[in-house]
Amino acid sequence: MARTLGAVCKRCRREGVKLFLKGSRCDSALCALTRRPIAPGMHGFKRGKMTDYGVHLREKQKVKTYYGVLEKQFRKYYQMAERSKGNTGKELMSLLERRLDNIVFRMGFATSRAAARQTISHGHILVNGKFVNVPSFLVRPGDVISVKNRKGSIELVKTAIASVQQDLPDFLSTNDTEIPSGVVMRLPLSEDVSLPVQPQLIVELCSK
Ligand code: SF4
Repeated sequence: MARTLGAVCKRCRREGVKLFLKGSRCDSALCALTRRPIAPGMHGFKRGKMTDYGVHLREKQKVKTYYGVLEKQFRKYYQMAERSKGNTGKELMSLLERRLDNIVFRMGFATSRAAARQTISHGHILVNGKFVNVPSFLVRPGDVISVKNRKGSIELVKTAIASVQQDLPDFLSTNDTEIPSGVVMRLPLSEDVSLPVQPQLIVELCSK
C-alpha cells in the first residue's frame, strides 16, 4: 500500500487548515497549525498572492492529503465521478468519503485516517461479517462495519473510541455494545465532508 511519508504537520501548515493527520494531538494545544499558522519553510510568513493555477492545485492537494490518497488513485476516483450522472465534484467527494478507512475513522474506531488504514490492513475490521483488509474498499448503504471478535482487536478500537472527540456524521450510526460496530445509513453527500473544500476547483483542474 503506497503512502506518503514525511512531516505531516507541514501539510496542514501548507494548506492553512487542520487536516487531522495526527490523531488526538490535532485537538490539543500541541497542534502545529495552532502554534505556527504560517506555511512551512524560511519564507513561509511572506508568501505572495497565489496564481489561479496555484489556488486550484492547493485545493486538490488538500483533499488528497486529507484522505491519504496518492495521485494515481485520486485520478481513478475522478474518472469514476466523471462517469457518474451527478455533479462531478460532489460525486468525487462522496466517493472519497465512502472509503473504508474514512468510515472507520469517522465512526471513531481509529484516531486518524492513517491509524484506520493500519487497523484495517492488520485485519481488525469486518464488513457485513466478512474480513476486509483493503482500506480503499467503498462502503454502500446498509453495510455493517464491526470489529473482529478478538480481545486485541476490541481493546485497540475501544482505546481509540475513548481518545477521539469527533461528531458522528448523519450518514453513520454506531452501537455502543461489547463488540463496537456501526452502520452506513446512506451514501455520504459532499455536505457531509468535514473539510472546507470547493470541489468545483478540483474539477476545473482535473478536467484540463
Ligand atoms: Fe495538522 Fe494534526 Fe499536525 Fe495540527 S497536529 S498540524 S491538525 S496533523
